[in-house]
This record gives sequence, structure tokens and C-alpha cells, in this order.
Amino acid sequence: ILQPDKPEALEGDDRDLFSKFDDIIALREGLLSQGREDPFNLVMEKVLSPTRAICNGRETILLGTYNYMGMTFDPDVIEAGKRALADFGSGTTGSRVLNGTYQGHKECEEALREFYGMDHAMVFSTGYQANLGIISTIAGKGDYIVLDIDSHASIWDGCALGNAEVVPFKHNDVEAMEKRLRRIPEGAGKLVILEGVYSMLGDIAPLKEMVAVAKKYGAMVLVDEAHSMGFIGENGRGVVEDAGVIDDVDFIIGTFSKSVGTVGGFCVSNHPKFEIMRLVCRPYVFTASLPPSVVATAATSIRKLMDAADKRAHLWQNSRTLHKGLRDLGFKLGTEEAQSAIIAVIMPDLEKGAHMWEALIRGGLYVNLARPPATPANMTLLRCSLCAEHSEEEVGKILDIFDKAGSETGII
Ligand code: PMP
Repeated sequence: ILQPDKPEALEGDDRDLFSKFDDIIALREGLLSQGREDPFNLVMEKVLSPTRAICNGRETILLGTYNYMGMTFDPDVIEAGKRALADFGSGTTGSRVLNGTYQGHKECEEALREFYGMDHAMVFSTGYQANLGIISTIAGKGDYIVLDIDSHASIWDGCALGNAEVVPFKHNDVEAMEKRLRRIPEGAGKLVILEGVYSMLGDIAPLKEMVAVAKKYGAMVLVDEAHSMGFIGENGRGVVEDAGVIDDVDFIIGTFSKSVGTVGGFCVSNHPKFEIMRLVCRPYVFTASLPPSVVATAATSIRKLMDAADKRAHLWQNSRTLHKGLRDLGFKLGTEEAQSAIIAVIMPDLEKGAHMWEALIRGGLYVNLARPPATPANMTLLRCSLCAEHSEEEVGKILDIFDKAGSETGII
């Protein structure tokens, strides 16, 4: 009996779609084979407060969360979540444009409109989806997007999804940005995308100059304020507020996963046609809406953040103390001064970075180990993000742990 030819046997790994990950698998195995704790596999066994948890079996100070304003354990926030869970159930099981808009989603959008003093607010299921959705929907084929080369992955992915022409410029370089804008063909749609705080080094954008240049060339401006909401600016509206350009930007993107202390994303805008987004933005339409408990906690937290000047002041104090302390110990930092709640400690290479990370975790301190491709200029960073709930004493303890780990590993 004639059998049809069998498909040829796989030749080595050539047809294994996973073979493209071999380098990263080898890198990871190399690090772990030296008996290191895995920096990307930490488990929080118990969370004691916004600044402390039991991680990998030991009590640890948390200096690598985005819980900037410490809202995750706020009693009003927790109570609002519990109430919504009991009254509205665990989930909406549907899209915002079908059965997934509850009273709580409207209240959350109302809180955002008030927080930013803007006409429109649209809540997404994550900040990633807010960037993906807004960028891909407003900038399509034939339009131009001018963006900072160090933009967050969700921004790049939003650009790719929309198929616009993407023109990156050197990080925070106003002249480079202007040069790109000048070259765009007359009459083309233009969107400039910036971030208030860049999360890898914790540096801020020169928004005053950049927004003025964007306007000069007739571009719309979108600013991602994920890392500044609640903290930077007199009312916590972000770097746009601090730089005095909040009325000149077209869209602000934000997230609930940082200062707000839960999960979700949003866009606020004064554009008169903004509401049409709810029907044409695919990452908004084709996904389930946030659970009622989540939007209830978000709305309560956002309202409390409007009135959090003392917390903002304390967080600034923490950030400045840590920055100065680390610099005095001899560490190389991402910025000359504290510009946000993120302080990046630059490591000589990944190996030493992982070694230092391990020495810190063993000393009872958690920070983020960040490495390429997430980092600019192939740097390995230990990213420290402060919380308004870190006490002065805790910041002192953090510096002691850094001192000890730095000497042990020979980094200082
Ligand atoms: N934008 C920036 C600048 C971010 O850093 C992040 C998350 N790290 C996001 C957007 C996405 O936010 P979310 O966690 O809500 O998806």
C-alpha cells in the first residue's frame, strides 16, 4: 500500500517557533545556575502594607512597586471595593458598549473628569490598552506619529497597530523633535507622543518646550502621565500641570495600576468629538469592562488623590532623601537630582546587577531589576520607586541595606 510521504522531520530547531528565544533562555539559565534567586520570579506570600511584604519567606521593604501614593490599603478604598463587590457582583461579563457599563464605570469617569478638569474621560481595562486603543484609533495609515525613542512598550504597540508612519526622536531632545516635525509632508495628520515621567530613569520631559514646538507644527499632543498622576503637579495632575501646559495637550493617558492602586487605564480629553472613541476604538469595544469592585476602588482613590497635598510633600521628601543618600554612598544614578518618585541606580552590567539585586533581597529590600531591551542604552538598572507611606526611618533603613549590599558586591 502506498503511504503518502510523511512530512519531513524537523531539522534541529529550525521549525520550532520557540528557537528565537534560545538566547534569552541561555542568559536566564546562566544567571540562575550561579545559585541566584530569580529576580523575575519573586512571590509576595503576604502583603503587610503598601511598603512591606513577606517575599520568598522573609519580611521585605518594598521599593519596587508603583504604589506611589500608598492607596492599596486605604480603608475608604477597601470599603468601596467590598461594597461594590457585594452589590454588583464579581464581574460585568461584557464590553463597555454592550452590558459592561455599570453605574460605577460612569462614576469613575466622572471622578477622572473632575480630577483633571477635562470634558471627557474614557476608562479602559488597563493602561496598556488605553495607549493601544487611543493611539491606533486616532493615528492610522498616512498619518505621522513623532515620539520619544524611550517611549513605553504600550505606546510603540499602539503605533504599530494603527499603521501610521512612526518617526522617533532622541530622548527628551526638543531640537531633534522639531527636526522630525519639520520634515513631515504638508497636510498630513500629526500626533506627538510624550511621557511626563520616563519610568526607566525617572527623568521628566521638558513638556513646556515640547508642547510649544508640537503646536507650532500643528500636531496633536498625547502625554502619558502613568508615573506622575497623584504625585507631580499642585493637584497631582502630572507633569503637564507642573509645566503649565495641561490646557494645550489634546490627550492625557493614565493608569490605575500605579498611584491609584488598582488596575485599569484611561484617557481624558477636551476634544469635542472625543465620545466617538467609544464606538471606534477596538481595544475599548472588544474586551470586557473592569469589575465593579475595581472601578469603585479607583473612583474612591482618585477622589482622595485630589486632596493629598501632604502625601505629595512627604513623597517628594522621601525621593530627595533617597537620591541624596544613594549618591553620597557612591552609587551612579539615572538623574542628577530627584525628578520623580523613581530613582534608578545604574549597574555596571547584568551580572553585577543581578548580584546586587540578590544582596538587596537577602538584606530585606525589594527593588526592580531592569535590563535591556526595556532599558535605554542597554543599561542594567536597579529601579527604586518610593511610596508616600515609606517612613523616614524606612528610608534610612533602605540606605543601610544599599550600603551593605554595595560593599558586599564591590559595587561601591
Ligand atoms: N504607560 C506607561 C508609561 C507605563 O509605565 C505603563 C505600565 N508600566 C503603562 C502605560 C501601562 O499601564 P498598565 O499597567 O495600566 O497596563
